[in-house]
Amino acid sequence: PNFPLFKNALDYATNHNGIAIDDIRMGKSFTYLELIQAVANLRLELLNGKSCLNQERIAILFPSGFPYVVCLLAVWAAGGIAVPLCTSHPTPEQLYTLQDSNSSILVSHPVFQDRLKDLQKNLTCIIKNDNWFVSKQSKLPVLFESDINASALIIYTSGTTGKPKGAVSTHAIIDAQASVLVKAWYWSQQDRIHHILPLHHIHGIVNALLSPLYIGATIEMHQKFITEQVWERWANTDLPKLTVFMSVPTVYSKLYQFYKNGDKEARKELTKACNQFRFMVSGSASLPTSLRNQWRKASGGQVLLERYGMTEIGMALSQEYVIWERVQGTVGIPLPGIQVRIISDKGSDITDKRNIPGMLQVKGSTVFKEYWQRPDATKKEFTEDGWFQTGDVAQRIGYHGYYQIMGRSSIDIIKTGGEKVSALEIERELLSCDFGIQDVAVVGIPDPEWGQKVAAVVVMDHGKEIELLTIRNQLKKQLAVYKVPSLLKVVSELPKNAMGKVTKKDLVCLF
Ligand code: ATP
Ligand code: MG
Repeated sequence: PNFPLFKNALDYATNHNGIAIDDIRMGKSFTYLELIQAVANLRLELLNGKSCLNQERIAILFPSGFPYVVCLLAVWAAGGIAVPLCTSHPTPEQLYTLQDSNSSILVSHPVFQDRLKDLQKNLTCIIKNDNWFVSKQSKLPVLFESDINASALIIYTSGTTGKPKGAVSTHAIIDAQASVLVKAWYWSQQDRIHHILPLHHIHGIVNALLSPLYIGATIEMHQKFITEQVWERWANTDLPKLTVFMSVPTVYSKLYQFYKNGDKEARKELTKACNQFRFMVSGSASLPTSLRNQWRKASGGQVLLERYGMTEIGMALSQEYVIWERVQGTVGIPLPGIQVRIISDKGSDITDKRNIPGMLQVKGSTVFKEYWQRPDATKKEFTEDGWFQTGDVAQRIGYHGYYQIMGRSSIDIIKTGGEKVSALEIERELLSCDFGIQDVAVVGIPDPEWGQKVAAVVVMDHGKEIELLTIRNQLKKQLAVYKVPSLLKVVSELPKNAMGKVTKKDLVCLF
């Protein structure tokens, strides 16, 4: 059997040959045929006379764009396992990924020349500049034989709770992860996604790159997210119409701040620019209700489609495509074909209950194969009957039973005076109060009397101040008193990782 992505790409190359990648850094567009040809060329070079790479790990360090995509597919076509590195990580973290994965080859680009000498210890380094990708020509290659159940990709988790772990997926798993989104979000060849996400993470790789490739759509790849440039691109009517945008809450927050600070004319133009999108997605972290509603207004009616997923499971829950079913504060329902259940502390299945939180577990063809070289960790995260334990707490609410994510059991569920408190719930409340809080993280601080105390770390809007007492007086009216923060710190910025997630473990030491 052939890996479906290649089969599809080859079909697109032969049948319509539309634009696969619009590479903004290179200033050049590449058709599906050009993509497949470049993949065939690099495959031969990676193979270096062998017939198959036999699951060797090949690390990829490229700026976002066409060469990255060619490398990823070439590794697969050669029978290797791709290990995408984060371009913005410092060298030691990249080294960790290279060493942990035992990568034998690093394929990279001259823009990383400076750090390559530190990275290329114990491995072969192949450096390819932009010209190589443009000048090489070849005939339409034959389909590449690849075992659909062979391991294909190691994505490292974001490292929000500890050292990143390498999650291994097979071609079949990636295929399932990409195709479920194609169906649920009605991807078509007419779509053009504005891709600004990092390419070492499931959001940027599977949701925003492989799904559109799978269906034959166009991916407009920008090197990274820069608030002003994104707005400028959206407002430029001389360029092709964009139809899809995907990002994380932090990005929407930055885009909104920029919008808010514009004058009336500018705001009008930006609102109009959002009209071109068929849908806009938010994920990777909880989307604050306040931001969702601000965005809805600023964008002239775009209701962000929130979904929930993990490196280990792809996407599992998603709000529905129809706008009026996208209920705020929820992540919708299980994606087609994916089994989801909620298990109580006592071990009973409470999925059909309402408003009772429990541990979220997932099963299905999209769930990863294993943690790379960590059999114990893999074993620990699966139940005896084969369910993956996400470590997140969730409950179902309302008539439709939409899922609501309460946070990670390890850091977001605070145990204070015998009660369990969801940090995410308090964060949502704080952001929707009129205090001028721009960003917030709620954490549990060890305390001899209470077990943990609820602490809020806030970033204020420019020129605004806040006192703990003000927060307490207000929140007491809205929340049970044990949920109200008893500690407060105002900071200028929250520590976040490459995926824009707050690294809460770094906040505990503030108190
Ligand atoms: P690590 O596992 O290394 O600590 P990480 O869990 O942040 O890092 P990812 O796999 O990138 O690594 O993130 C998955 C986690 O992100 C989920 O377990 C969940 O806690 C969180 N998450 C993703 N989407 C949402 C969402 N829509 N709402 C709330 N949380 C979300
Ligand atoms: Mg995780």
